[in-house]
Amino acid sequence: MPAHQTKPLKEWQRALFLNQPGTRPSIHPGWRFPDLVDPRTITVMSLTLPILPESQPQPPEGLPKPLPGFLDVPVESLREWLAERRQPPMRINQIRKQLLANRATSFEDMSDLPKQLRTELAASFSLLSTRVERHLFAMSDDTHKLVLRLEDDKMIECVLIQDDGRATACISTQVGCGMGCVFCASGLNGVVRNLTVGEMVEQLVRLRNLTNPKSTNPDRAPRLTHIVVMGMGEPLANLDRLLEALAIAGDKNGLCVGQRHVTISTVGLPAKIRQLADVGKQYHLAVSLHAASDGLRTQIVPTNDKTGISAILEAADYFYEKTGRQVTYEYVVLGGMNDGPTHAKELARLLAGRKAHVNLIPWNDVEGMTFRRPMDDHLQGLIDTLHRSGVSVKVRKRKGSEIDAACGQLRRLLEGKTASGLETAVHSGNAIDGAFTPTAPE
Ligand code: SAH
Repeated sequence: MPAHQTKPLKEWQRALFLNQPGTRPSIHPGWRFPDLVDPRTITVMSLTLPILPESQPQPPEGLPKPLPGFLDVPVESLREWLAERRQPPMRINQIRKQLLANRATSFEDMSDLPKQLRTELAASFSLLSTRVERHLFAMSDDTHKLVLRLEDDKMIECVLIQDDGRATACISTQVGCGMGCVFCASGLNGVVRNLTVGEMVEQLVRLRNLTNPKSTNPDRAPRLTHIVVMGMGEPLANLDRLLEALAIAGDKNGLCVGQRHVTISTVGLPAKIRQLADVGKQYHLAVSLHAASDGLRTQIVPTNDKTGISAILEAADYFYEKTGRQVTYEYVVLGGMNDGPTHAKELARLLAGRKAHVNLIPWNDVEGMTFRRPMDDHLQGLIDTLHRSGVSVKVRKRKGSEIDAACGQLRRLLEGKTASGLETAVHSGNAIDGAFTPTAPE
C-alpha cells in the first residue's frame, strides 16, 4: 500500500474522533475517553491523521499579546510584582508548588492564596503558556502524545509512556533540530530556536496531569516516575536551560522525579558531554552512535564530520569515570545500511571492554524517506554479535503503535509538511518509539 494511503479502520479505530476547533469531539458509543482527560482537549485519536490546510488559523489581529508564562518570569520580577501588591516573596514557592505538585490548572484553583491575589495573577500571567494543539491517545497501552503550540505559534511534541508501574515523559528541548541526522523527521527543516525552561517544564506538567493520582493499578504510576530527553532537538545544545528544567523536575516540592530516573540523549557533542559530567548530577547519558566507523556515521549523522567517533567515546568514558553511570549507546538500525555482519563486528569491537549498554532502535518510518526497517535476522545478528563480545544490548520496545510515528512527524503534519512535500493523508500506523520509548534507566 503506498505510504500516503490510509488503512481500513479496525473496530477499535472506529473510536476515532476528530475535533475541529469549536466543536465537541464525538466518540463511538463503545469507547470511553481515557480517565482524567478532559474530552475538550483531546482533538485526535486515530491511526490516520488529517493534513490541515497549509495556512493555520491565526488569532484575529488586534488581540492583546498573550500573558507571560508564569514559569518563565524571572524570580526578581515576580518578587517586585508581589511587593507592589504587599505580598511576601514566599508566594512564588506557593504558586509553584500548587502548579508542580498539587496539579492546579489555574490560579483560581490555588485556594491557599488570597482571592484578590488569584484574580490579579490571572490578569498578569498565564499559568501555562503552551496550548494543547493535538492530543493523541493509544488505547492499547495508554500512551499519550501531545503537540503543544507555543506562544510564538511554533509547535513541539511530547509523549507519556506508561508501562510496568512507570510513567515516563519524553520531552523536546528545541523547536526543530540542527543536527540533521538523515533518518530523523525532527531536523528536516533545521532548528528554529531553543525552548525556554518553562516550556520544558510545561511538557512535564501537562504529561504528569495525564497520570492518575489515584491509580491502584500496579502498571500505572500515579505520577511521573521517569523522564527521557529524547523528543525534538539536541538537548546538549540547550544544556543550561535543560539543567534548570530538570532541577525543577527533581525538586521535592516540584515533580519529584529523581536524577537517576532521567535520561538525556545526545547526538554526541564532546565538550557538552564533559560539561554534563562535571555538574555532579546522576542523570543517565545516552549517546546516539548509529554507526561504528567514521565514514558511515558521517553519512548518517552529518555532525560526525566535525566531531568523530573517538572524541565522543572519550567524552562518554569521562562521563562514566566522573559519574559512575553506565552510558547507553543508541543505534538506529537502518535496513541494508548499518545492520550487516561487518557493522555488527565493528560495533562490538568499539564497545567491548567499555561499561556500555546498546539500545538497538529499528528505524521508524518517516513519510517521504526511503530507509528501511531491518530484517529480523539482521537485527538478531547484531544482538548475537554484541552478546558474544560481552556488550549488553536491548531492542527498544514499540509503544503507542496506534498513534503517529517517529519524533517530529506529527508537528510537521500539522504544519502541512511531509518530507516528500506531499500534501496527502499520511498513513501513520507506525510506532512512536523511535524517539520516544524509554531506555529504562535505573
Ligand atoms: N538529538 C538527540 C535526541 C534525538 S531523539 C539525539 O540525537 O540523541 C532520540 C533518539 O531517537 C536518537 O537516538 C535518534 O537518533 C532516534 N531517532 C530519531 N528519529 C528516529 C526514527 N525515525 N527512527 C528511529 N530512531 C529515531
